[in-house]
Amino acid sequence: MDIVKHWLNGEPFVGGSARTSPVYDPALGTVAREVRLATVADVAVAVAAASAAFPAWAETSLAKRQGIMFRFRELLNERKQDLAEILTAEHGKVLSDALGEISRGLEVVEFATSIPQLLKGEYSENVSSGVDVYSTREPLGVVAVISPFNFPAMVPLWFIPLAIAAGNAVIVKPSEKNPSASVWIAELMTEAGLPDGVLNVVHGDKESVDALLDHPGVAAISFVGSTPIAKYIYETASSHGKRVQALGGAKNHMLVLPDADLDLAADAAINAGFGSAGERCMAISVLVAVEPVADELVAKISDRMARLTVGDGRRSCDMGPLITREHRDKVAGYLDTATTDGASIVVDGRDVSVDGEANGFWLGPTLIDRVPTTSAVYQDEIFGPVLSVVRVATYEDGVSLINASPYGNGTAIFTNDGGAARRFQREVQVGMIGINVPIPVPVAYYSFGGWKNSLFGDLKAYGPDGVKFFTREKAVTRRWLDPSHGGINLGFPQNQ
Ligand code: NAD
Repeated sequence: MDIVKHWLNGEPFVGGSARTSPVYDPALGTVAREVRLATVADVAVAVAAASAAFPAWAETSLAKRQGIMFRFRELLNERKQDLAEILTAEHGKVLSDALGEISRGLEVVEFATSIPQLLKGEYSENVSSGVDVYSTREPLGVVAVISPFNFPAMVPLWFIPLAIAAGNAVIVKPSEKNPSASVWIAELMTEAGLPDGVLNVVHGDKESVDALLDHPGVAAISFVGSTPIAKYIYETASSHGKRVQALGGAKNHMLVLPDADLDLAADAAINAGFGSAGERCMAISVLVAVEPVADELVAKISDRMARLTVGDGRRSCDMGPLITREHRDKVAGYLDTATTDGASIVVDGRDVSVDGEANGFWLGPTLIDRVPTTSAVYQDEIFGPVLSVVRVATYEDGVSLINASPYGNGTAIFTNDGGAARRFQREVQVGMIGINVPIPVPVAYYSFGGWKNSLFGDLKAYGPDGVKFFTREKAVTRRWLDPSHGGINLGFPQNQ
């Protein structure tokens, strides 16, 4: 059986661990390979490699760092089909969706090619007589990226390009469920000319994550995953003095007002609810229908669901399998909960017919109407192809519902009323908002992140916040002495 190795110092690294974890092909339901799970000692070797590479990389000119980013961008664009095939084989998402994920990662690479512009400081002349002030930004050192299973390429690419372009050395700990994409990216970075040790990949589970959180040689942690783990990462790493951004889970609502075009809203709900089998932190999982449109909207959505095809993502279909059998069964369990809690299952994904192997981790698109907000179906992040409908009487009821959620990642409103949309944008307590856009993932030159339990830490991912996260600012106050600066004065310096 093939074993996925770590990537250290520009080459594969076996490490000292005998522990491995299975990597499935979710559409076949078989173990495709194993992945090594790093020990504390393996992590220490990775931190030592990154620490050794850091000083020379931090001193490398902006022009050279930018040149490597440009080469990496070209290589990634040329070979994205190869990466998409890895994503489909280890995650299950259909090929077109895998290519979409890569293109959103490429955006961040392109943003990072403008690092000379992004790292420019500020300069103020003559802030006091003969005194100038300016600012510079410096890299942090060794930074670690810990990523989830659902975007094995895009989420690492939210962080790697900016961290590296800003002059840091990076250790990526990808999800052990689909580890190959990160290694592929690191190999490509080496081919693009990145010096050995600047980008390393360590595979593992809690043991390796804890080792990164504890290690004094790691300056910062960028984490993306479920809320309980994000909270743990934030609290543990910051208690060790590290800078942390920990992006957590979500439960995203789509509010449909009575004036909306219901056909377009139904299309959007399908795309955002069932794309990538609902395994997206920006998936729409709750449709909030403002009466009297709920019956019509539910009918339009269920009509469209009858046309969705489910199968092996390497074939031509709309939706692939879930990540593991265990996760599939957990998601399917919510359908039983829905019935017990008095909701009505309009379309039952357990009855799906599939264009794929019988042992794949299949669950079809599911629509549940009249979900009580007290039900676990409403409250939990299910992370599967399950769309819940909650009916409300007014716009105000819809906004109150969204604002009562402990999550605040994404939300969307569907309406043609500009005033209502503007009011929603101002009143809703969520970090990323779509106005007639169901998956409002900001472009790379804005920043990505939610509010409340969807983000622990002050700075979001990529965009301007990403540049800030991976650098520290120095403010320099400077004067060239002349006789007018002389004299004894023990008072606190004042600007003159
Ligand atoms: P997860 O929290 O199980 O795992 C994320 C990472 O943490 C993995 O690398 C994993 O190995 C590690 N990990 C798991 N358990 C750990 C533990 N006990 N201690 C230390 N490390 C541990 O998440 P997942 O299932 O891989 O991904 C899905 C979750 O990620 C969903 O909740 C989804 O909403 C969230 N997500 C959020 C965003 C966002 O931007 N907010 C983006 C993508 C995914």
